[in-house]
Amino acid sequence: MTVDYLIIGQGLAGTLVAHHLRKHGKSIHVIDNAHKNSASKIAAGLINPVTGRKYVKSWRIDELIPASIKTYTELGQELGVDLLVQQNILRIIFDQKSERYWDDLIMKGVAEKYIQESADIEAYQDLLHQFHGVGELSGYRVNLELLISAFANVLSGEKSLTTEDFKYSSIELSDHFVGYKGISATHVIFCDGARAIHNPFFNYLPFQPAKGEAIKFVLDNFQSKKILRHKQFIIPMDGQFWSGGSYEWEELNEEPTLGFKEKWLIDMQSMIVQKPQIVSHQAAVRPAVKGRRPLLGTHPKYKNVHIFNGLGTKGSSLAPLFVEQFINHLLGLNSIDEGVSIERFESLY
Ligand SMILES: Cc1cc2nc3c(=O)[nH]c(=O)nc-3n(C[C@H](O)[C@H](O)[C@H](O)COP(=O)(O)OP(=O)(O)OC[C@H]3O[C@@H](n4cnc5c(N)ncnc54)[C@H](O)[C@@H]3O)c2cc1C
Repeated sequence: MTVDYLIIGQGLAGTLVAHHLRKHGKSIHVIDNAHKNSASKIAAGLINPVTGRKYVKSWRIDELIPASIKTYTELGQELGVDLLVQQNILRIIFDQKSERYWDDLIMKGVAEKYIQESADIEAYQDLLHQFHGVGELSGYRVNLELLISAFANVLSGEKSLTTEDFKYSSIELSDHFVGYKGISATHVIFCDGARAIHNPFFNYLPFQPAKGEAIKFVLDNFQSKKILRHKQFIIPMDGQFWSGGSYEWEELNEEPTLGFKEKWLIDMQSMIVQKPQIVSHQAAVRPAVKGRRPLLGTHPKYKNVHIFNGLGTKGSSLAPLFVEQFINHLLGLNSIDEGVSIERFESLY
């Protein structure tokens, strides 16, 4: 089999890279090991314009949101599924300090277009313990699991997907040729997520993978269209709720921990009146980077070896804007922004 691009990994990054290359008429083949605990399959897929306890406006969010709406809407139409849901985020202000931070955000006026009127707060009064107030933001959620499975079906139907573990040591490489187990390609693109720390071409980059845990649960007689953000997130998803997003940099495995579950239960007890019934508890490793910016571009020595990675904690919003830059770079149409190009780390190679 001969293709223009061989893509390694079909999480969010590999899916969007494959989609854009196909759109430009390029032939592709994808190798993915169908790992059930990839970051993309566990993530909530939230696109949040203002994050953290101090309500900080997300980096480049004014460009990221329009690119996300365009990409996920277009891809959803092509796949015949709804990938993007508009969901407001209700920030529960539970102490005076958070109230001050929220007031600062309003005063600065930097995130004005994302701030919404909170009209139906009474609906939450029976669910939540006492709180100081609320702030409401417009946000989005991407159904990443559906995106990946629906796109994998398309690739499988076209015999463009091999489900196996890619062995980095088995690749054959010359200037205009990439060979791997009977596949010949002109280029290879690595979208291998946190596994990139074992990738001999790109392990010089400053990855700082971060394990995160997620719990799905149900609550009796409670429905919400909105996402609640208190000490933890409560995200309505497919008739259940999603919560989680912890950070662990040492134990980089995919084992859910009792420590996380116990802390989560304590947080939930202080937030909501009802006792949550846990449906599932999972963990995955995010491809995070020191400096928290994506890593994309072409290998300093091998000009047909590329990477699209480093989506960290915010892949849903970062990927659509930067994948367009990345593809245009591959096609020789324009260059990648300095802040996300791997050229910024060339001295480490
Ligand atoms: C608990 C948690 C919550 C999160 N919540 C959010 C959120 O709400 N919003 C948000 O924007 N982001 C969130 N994230 C982050 C988000 O998941 C990532 O930014 C994004 O999914 C990374 O996508 P990726 O394709 O780069 O990596 P991955 O999803 O890890 O995909 C990499 C793929 O490559 C495959 N692969 C790797 N190496 C090989 C190999 N050698 N051979 C074959 N296949 C290989 C893997 O199996 C996988 O399928 C969350 C992450 C976690 C863990």
